[in-house]
Amino acid sequence: MSAIVDGRWKGPVVDQHIHLDRSNRYFAAVDEFVLCGGTGMMLVHKPRFGAGLPDDKAGYRAAYAETLEMAEEVRAKFAITVGVVLGPHPVAWEHQIADLGMKRATELHLEAVDLALEHIDAGDAQCLGEVGRPHYPVAEETWAAANEMLAEIMGLAAGAHAPIQLHVEDNGSQTYSELAQIAASAGLPLSKTIRHYAPADVSADFTHGLACTVSVGRGSVEALLASHSHASSPWGMETDYLDDPRRPGAVLGPKTIPKRTDELCAVLLAEHEQEEVEGLLMNVHSHWPSELYGLEF
Ligand SMILES: [Zn+2]
Repeated sequence: MSAIVDGRWKGPVVDQHIHLDRSNRYFAAVDEFVLCGGTGMMLVHKPRFGAGLPDDKAGYRAAYAETLEMAEEVRAKFAITVGVVLGPHPVAWEHQIADLGMKRATELHLEAVDLALEHIDAGDAQCLGEVGRPHYPVAEETWAAANEMLAEIMGLAAGAHAPIQLHVEDNGSQTYSELAQIAASAGLPLSKTIRHYAPADVSADFTHGLACTVSVGRGSVEALLASHSHASSPWGMETDYLDDPRRPGAVLGPKTIPKRTDELCAVLLAEHEQEEVEGLLMNVHSHWPSELYGLEF
């Protein structure tokens, strides 16, 4: 049976980077996604920037437990595949330097990485993230420490055979090039090094061989169409939906992936055979995520 029926995509549709919040839309957001054709998601741990960040390992344990419970609840309520991305956010680390000092903030961050890797090893979570480095300018000393810490985190992920989702600055190809170098020296395969919130240029010249999840905002379909045949590494789609009452609909709403997949399917069909289009979209929404996270998408 074909995943394309009468020119429309009826196959799997996966959001690889979405946040949910019990105190905001939560199930209503998932419902919206599922009604539009969503079949799977990677639920990413969301730090409580406004309400106090964990300042010890026990605090991280409790915070992670909440994300893991939400994943369970969503699985129980909806017939979709839900994987979990667990880890300490680089912006949390940067914020905590002021309170805890660089040494303790870094130590805590690495403890939180260890704990996330324990959950991945136990099969409760499938990916480390979002980890990375601040996406805004910081002091030179902080930047150097962030890169050193990221190299250590990549080394830990490599040792645990875990994929990682990276939260980084947006400095075009330069960002990818630096990440590829750090990953290579840490022994982390580029296919498991996933840049989150990626621009829609997936060509090898731009990504330097890193995997990515594309933020499929306006204009992304055209950019994917133009670059997909020059990709050397797998790519997926994400909304980075925040489920945050202060930023409703940000970064992209829960309906976005099903909608963009339909649009991409239509423009691809105008240029390629149906079988080819099916293969491409199955890689995006099923084969790659299944292999990467060890779940059935
Ligand atoms: Zn995110």
